[in-house]
Amino acid sequence: MDVKTPPLDIAKLRQDFPVLHQKVAGKPLAYFDNAASAQKPQAVIDTLSHYYETTHSNVHRGVHQLSQKATDAFEEARKIVQQELNAAHPHEIIWTKGTTDSINLVASSLGQNQIKSGDEIIISALEHHSNIVPWQMLCQRTGATLRVIPISDEGEIDLQAYRELLSSRTKMVAVNHYSNALGLINPVEAIIEEAHKHGAWVLLDGAQSLPHRPVDVRALDADFYAFSGHKVFGPTGIGVLYGKESLLNELPPYQGGGEMIAEVSFEKTTYGELPHKFEAGTPHIAGAIGLGAAFQYLQQQDRPALARHEEELLAYATDALRRHFPRLKIYGDVPHKASVISFLLEDIHPYDAGAILDKLGVAIRTGHHCNQPLMQRFGISGTMRASFAFYNTTEEIDQFITALQRAEKMLS
Ligand SMILES: *Cc1c(COP(=O)(O)O)cnc(C)c1O
Repeated sequence: MDVKTPPLDIAKLRQDFPVLHQKVAGKPLAYFDNAASAQKPQAVIDTLSHYYETTHSNVHRGVHQLSQKATDAFEEARKIVQQELNAAHPHEIIWTKGTTDSINLVASSLGQNQIKSGDEIIISALEHHSNIVPWQMLCQRTGATLRVIPISDEGEIDLQAYRELLSSRTKMVAVNHYSNALGLINPVEAIIEEAHKHGAWVLLDGAQSLPHRPVDVRALDADFYAFSGHKVFGPTGIGVLYGKESLLNELPPYQGGGEMIAEVSFEKTTYGELPHKFEAGTPHIAGAIGLGAAFQYLQQQDRPALARHEEELLAYATDALRRHFPRLKIYGDVPHKASVISFLLEDIHPYDAGAILDKLGVAIRTGHHCNQPLMQRFGISGTMRASFAFYNTTEEIDQFITALQRAEKMLS
């Protein structure tokens, strides 16, 4: 018997996201800037208020009950993230400010004792500035060399060229799992396997993958995995660095201060155990607990159904764009990708079209999407990007198409 799961009740799901139910310039909001930041379910908002109303205190410090309660909730959130990523231990989950902070932590820490002149770091031509600049800074500091994997005209990573870049000099390979500018899903399994053959470590920039699909860091065999809370329906200002225990133990601390020490004297300080070694200062306690709530919310959903809905939105929007705008060009036009469409319409400037769309209630992203080298590779200064989350609808896409037709008429 063919057992079909019931279709998603999108209207019901949307009730969980209060921000979606508003008008912008008198039009219903169609929020298609999810790759820049995702909206928050009521469960996350409630968790934040509840925390401040009932639990707030500093963590890992007080003997008093409130501090115990805050510490328990904070450490419980770490376990939720551990389970979400299928990490082996909770202490492999390091709280950071976000993806950028996580990558800076690794790059900065590596620079203290692991990387020397002549070593090589490999990134791809498809990276977000957050996964370029920290490595450039590391190379400047240590005399190491940054190597860049080329991409095809559609933005796909050239695996053959990658294999040729790898050598015994390669110390770190840092690539994004899903691309933010194009939505491409990169062949990270192959990238990791090849890097490990050469004894290199791999950091995955996971800012765009977790919002779309569950991730299993152990199945991937990733050495480090970085992501931001705000892109997975959690709060801003909180993020995660996952690292394998043995590697995190090899790295020196990133910042010094309270919380990260075992013992301090003016002569010598000894550092705390994982994860505290990398968590100097009072952390974003509410943010961590809110991020835990975001994952609990996702875990309660039918996640394969959410993913299918996103695929349907992507197919529906791609088809509508092609039918209504024969001269529209999609960048990263490959069959299997995340629900992100990066495009240009004739020689209309993305910013001008974006401003008209905004007046019609449609929020898209315009510009270089923090990927200037990628835009240079394509010989353009930027694109328009519509990025969908599971709470978006085909009606919103219709509104977007109509708005884009208006923009085209006004601007061409
Ligand atoms: C958003 C993003 C980042 C940076 O995330 P922050 O939250 O700004 O630190 C890095 N890489 C990718 C692929 C992103 O999409």
